[in-house]
Amino acid sequence: MRMIAALLLYCALTAAYAEVLPEVLPNAQLAAPPVPPPGFIPPPLNPTGVLLETRELASNVYALMSNTPFADNAGFVVGDEAVLVIDSHFNGEMGQQIIDAVRQVSDLPIRYLLNTNAFGDHVFGNYVFPAQTQIVAHQGTIDALSKSSVQGIARTMRGTVDGDLSVFDGVELRIPDVGFDRQWSVELGNTVVEMHWFGPSMSPHDSVVFLPKEKIAWTANMIFGAGTIPWARGGDLVAYKQTLVNFAEKINPQTIVSGHGDITDGDAVPRYLNYIDDTLTVACNVLRDGVESASVYANAELDAKYPIEPTLERLMTGFHRWNLKAVMADPAQCAAH
Ligand SMILES: [Zn+2]
Repeated sequence: MRMIAALLLYCALTAAYAEVLPEVLPNAQLAAPPVPPPGFIPPPLNPTGVLLETRELASNVYALMSNTPFADNAGFVVGDEAVLVIDSHFNGEMGQQIIDAVRQVSDLPIRYLLNTNAFGDHVFGNYVFPAQTQIVAHQGTIDALSKSSVQGIARTMRGTVDGDLSVFDGVELRIPDVGFDRQWSVELGNTVVEMHWFGPSMSPHDSVVFLPKEKIAWTANMIFGAGTIPWARGGDLVAYKQTLVNFAEKINPQTIVSGHGDITDGDAVPRYLNYIDDTLTVACNVLRDGVESASVYANAELDAKYPIEPTLERLMTGFHRWNLKAVMADPAQCAAH
């Protein structure tokens, strides 16, 4: 009897663990982050001194572009009666900078704030938005944040801020109020704003904001800005590829505002797909030929056919090595490739 009870307890614990692990991947509970490959540097996201420049992309549609190569971008849309903001940035100071940028253009209430993923640099400004602002995110993002703490997330992001955890001072975790599964949308006067989840990419619940009439998308961490390659942080390039295929089938943006890096165009999707295909092929050939994989990913450089933004070369080389290592550590991806 006691053995049965122990077995039941074990099963319950294993089930809880298995259930928790994938959905909290971006956050504090990530039990064992993969060991980065040689040459990998964490994305430089330190918000100290970051200024957001307002760029009007279409009538009433604005991108907020960071003045450093990889710190977060954001955006907002002004409707007839209300404003919608995309991502709240790194901390209260940056969140306030977004509110101030909106106030330069409109006095309308900020009724919606969309969070594209569960990383601190996209959600830690939430708490400075008005109490009436509804915050919308994928349900998986809400679940992950509900199990997280500012301290926990900050610890996992230490490398992205040069170890300066004071950038998180004062941050309060404000969990989004409205969750969606595949799609959420709202009509803001003349502009329809959609939010989609196409599958896992850089993290499990990366979501895309899309304006169908203006053909503008905010792709957060799924598609970085001009001159980049994808980072399959969770390690599954085959799933990432499928997500991009779903993205291309469902929406067709002309302009892409990434969460990080400069504004790019819709061709970023085929560029990312080509890169993933090539990388799967290279990694799977290494596995097939029985070559020692660490010697390959540790020294890998990006082929010149991928145009890389010069200031991001080291960062992208690290992403490339991470992607190769991830496939080599998970040969099942080659069967699906
Ligand atoms: Zn990000």
